[in-house]
This record gives sequence, C-alpha cells and structure tokens, in this order.
Amino acid sequence: MTRIERYRKKLQSEVAYCVTCQPYDSGDYIWILGDQIELTDLLQYLDIPEKAWDDVVQGIICQNCGASVGLGDTIGTKTEEEQTLDELYKRLNRQLKPKVNDFQSHLERWPYLGLKHPIGKKILKQITDFPLVTIRDAVWYRARTPRGGSSMDVTELQPPDAARVVIPEGRYNHFGQRVFYLAKSAETAAIETLEGQAAIAWTLGFRIKHIELILDLEPEAGFPDTSLGLLAFGLTYGGHLDRDVKRGQGWKPEYFVPRFIADCARMSGFNGIKFRSARSWQSNLVLFSWNDSSVKEIGSPRILQVNRDTNTEF
Ligand SMILES: [Zn+2]
Repeated sequence: MTRIERYRKKLQSEVAYCVTCQPYDSGDYIWILGDQIELTDLLQYLDIPEKAWDDVVQGIICQNCGASVGLGDTIGTKTEEEQTLDELYKRLNRQLKPKVNDFQSHLERWPYLGLKHPIGKKILKQITDFPLVTIRDAVWYRARTPRGGSSMDVTELQPPDAARVVIPEGRYNHFGQRVFYLAKSAETAAIETLEGQAAIAWTLGFRIKHIELILDLEPEAGFPDTSLGLLAFGLTYGGHLDRDVKRGQGWKPEYFVPRFIADCARMSGFNGIKFRSARSWQSNLVLFSWNDSSVKEIGSPRILQVNRDTNTEF
C-alpha cells in the first residue's frame, strides 16, 4: 500500500456522513447525522500533509449514502455515541458471540449443566445488573388456536393448569412448567400461534395492574442502548434469544440459552421477562409469577385472522 493509499484509507474510515445525507428544510440542510466538520479540517486533524490532499480525496465517498466527497465539502464523522456502539458491536462479534455460541453447544449436550460453562456462570452472576422494568396498568394479549366450536371460553385463554394439561416447552419455560405468555397486541399474540403462513386464533386482553421486577431483554426501537454492559448488550442485540424454531420438530436447541436465562431470572427473584418476538416487531412477555388481582382479563375472546407477512386483521 502506498503512502497515499494509507492516507485515503484513514480518511475514508472517518467520512461517515455528508451533506446529501442530511434532511433539508426550505432549501437548507439541517445537520443531524454525525459531527459536522470541513473536510480540510479533518485532513489536518488526521495529519495528512496538505500537498497530498488532492490525491487523497480521489474516490472518497460517504459511507452512509455513497455520494462522492470533494475537498471543499463539509462531512460528518461518527458521534461519540456511534463510536461507542461500533466498539460494542466489534467486541460482541469478536469476543462474546463465539463464547455464547460455545455455550449454546454446551447446553445442547448437557442442558442441566449450564453453570459448568463460563458464560453460564457469568449470566447468573450479572443478571441482577441487567435492565428491569415495571409493567403498570397496561393491556397485554394471549391467543390460542381454535379447538373446534364457534366460541372459546375465557378460562381457556387463561394460562394452562399444569395439573390438568400437558404444557409444552417454550422459549422461556421448561416442559410442564406453568408460565403466562403474553404479547403487546392481539395480532402479535395470534402470530405466535402460527404453524404455517396464516392462522385464525382466539385472542383475549389482560390488564396488568402492576408487576415489577421484569427483566427487560428487548431492544428499544431506535438507537441501541450503549450503556449496557457487554453481556447484557450482547444478549439483547446479539440475536441468540430470538432465533426462530421449527415448531414441528421435537429438538429445539434455539430455546436453550433463553431458557437458561429464564432459570437465572427466576432464581434472582424476577417475576418475568420482556423479550422481542421472533416473529413480529412487537414485545412479548412471559410471567413466572402473578396473581389474579394483578392480571385480569378484559372483555371476551375475539377471533382474529393473521398472516405472517402482512399481519392483516379481519
Ligand atoms: Zn452521504
């Protein structure tokens, strides 16, 4: 690599945004993306000798929109928060992801021996530092596929009774373990029941008056939370918890890591976990403990038809 090419590489890595990327208001741009800087100031800051500038800027483009950038232009460099985020993603991909993948394989071989693995130990130890939320006065939904007949009773949409029915394993519960799965909307609840592309489901809303100590494993919309530690960040944004499973198959290794987390959360006294649906952009919730006064059904069940791609309501 020649000296010019080295300078060019250095400069290119800094040009995150340009004028074209910024929104316009009555003919003038409003700078919102990146830290605004004149390209010549940036070249100076990067210690690139002035006589090389003309050569160095040849072929430099905006990382965000691909527009070419010239010596007289103003550009945007990554903000401090974006740099922190880049750094977190780098550490996540290089350091944490291979370890969590290894933990996943460990659990597939020895499902009950998660604490024998360093990541298992770390999760149990650090889970009390993960973000928590309190759910107050909000309506969440449950759905079930029709069992025949033209209606469904309210009691059938309440969480199953472990003494009477076989409770299947789920992402956050073991086989036979009674929990309360809910979704933020009736549509999301119905989508969770899908076997194929479309489904009809009975849905019912439940008002949650007040439940605290809910582990929040759901990424916020918008800019990721860079204040999380690497492990919490990695579990929230790394994609290990919302892997889709083949429901018809008996072997569901995608559930092992989330279920290990559920055990750690229960052991730490948490009442549930809020998590992202693997099938929709909306939130899901699993409650480990609740009482009838804190979670109450509202209205009567209604039938809903959903399609996995369009989420259409009929
Ligand atoms: Zn641009």
